[in-house]
Amino acid sequence: MKSKERVVMLGDCQSFYASVEKADHPQYKNRPLVVAGDPERRSGIVLAACPVAKRSGITTAETLGTALAKCPEVVVMRPRMEKYIQVSMQITDIMKQYTDLVEPYSIDEQHLDVTGSLSLFGDPVTLAGMIQEEIMRKTGVYSRFGISYNKAVSKMACDNFAKKNADGIFCLPKERLQDILWPLPIRQMFMVGSRMEQHFLRMGIRTIGHLANAPLSRIRDRFGVNGEMLWRLANGIDHTLVNPNSHQGEKSIGHEMTLPRDYYTVSEIAVPLLELTELVCKRCRTKGYMGSVISVSCRGADFNQPTGFSHQMKLPDPTNVTNQVYRVVMSLFQRHWDGQPVRKVGVTVSTLVQDDEYQLMLFDERPKYQALEKATDEIKRKYGETAILRAVSLTDSGQARDRSGKIGGHYR
Ligand SMILES: [Mg+2]
Repeated sequence: MKSKERVVMLGDCQSFYASVEKADHPQYKNRPLVVAGDPERRSGIVLAACPVAKRSGITTAETLGTALAKCPEVVVMRPRMEKYIQVSMQITDIMKQYTDLVEPYSIDEQHLDVTGSLSLFGDPVTLAGMIQEEIMRKTGVYSRFGISYNKAVSKMACDNFAKKNADGIFCLPKERLQDILWPLPIRQMFMVGSRMEQHFLRMGIRTIGHLANAPLSRIRDRFGVNGEMLWRLANGIDHTLVNPNSHQGEKSIGHEMTLPRDYYTVSEIAVPLLELTELVCKRCRTKGYMGSVISVSCRGADFNQPTGFSHQMKLPDPTNVTNQVYRVVMSLFQRHWDGQPVRKVGVTVSTLVQDDEYQLMLFDERPKYQALEKATDEIKRKYGETAILRAVSLTDSGQARDRSGKIGGHYR
């Protein structure tokens, strides 16, 4: 690759949830295994299938009943959200040893800008191999790497080539776009679904190259900004940088809380974190939003000696359910807290969507919790904030009861 260009990778974990379960349950190593939303019911959805299960024809997003019909001996596991989030963070941390510029793209995909690391670690393919090997050794998950000069092309290099390669690594340089990417059928392009594919086919656009070489005005007139975006992808144009804090500054709902004194233990800090989570999730529910990026921040008391952090996690699906967000908040906190005394904590939910846009996936139990929490919100609205408090808020570390007594307190 030419020296002035960036070198960007997309790392993707194979059958992520299923791989995590297999690493944790070596007795199932060679068995077909799926993770399903509701293992007790045949209507549960397959969230992930290991390669052995896929060989029996099982696909993700089909019902468990369908999967069992194809492969009756398949091992069915219940999803363990917290575990997957922890492994995802562990993988991000492994990548961060090789470059500061790591941006989670989804729970099992990360972008890495390794431009500045190559003088230390060698060529990009060698570097990808080192990261891949370390992820496998530490988590038991097999990862694949697309390498190119920007995020969009590295994603296409991963999806179309690295995932099909024997070694799971594929480098697609700018000067090879024409002969490697352009011959592919248009449906294989990132962001082209079956509906767009039909539109393109009707226009005679059958390959990525056909789209790349179509006049932009024709595409823009027909499909607007979305069409222009796809045309740019086909031409390998993507100027967005790998940004470890990509969700900062976007629309979000969050709160910070200054604690009355320094807190020293996880069990103490867990209490205000739960209260903040409850507050933020309640705001989301009241405003009709769910979010898929959860951020946690904390700061120490000594402002001359700043300690603390702000870290975020992208979930596979948006939520506004307190218990679910809280689990993520605690996972993030426990992973990143260095043990220094804490004086200020914050919780933020971002990448918001309307909560009526119901998508089923990992959070199968969400409607049940949403109904429960809506009822709780209603009681609090009628009878005041302290009508229902979680038992933990009554302990010494609890802030909620105190706060609700404040008139004009800045948390309301
Ligand atoms: Mg994957």
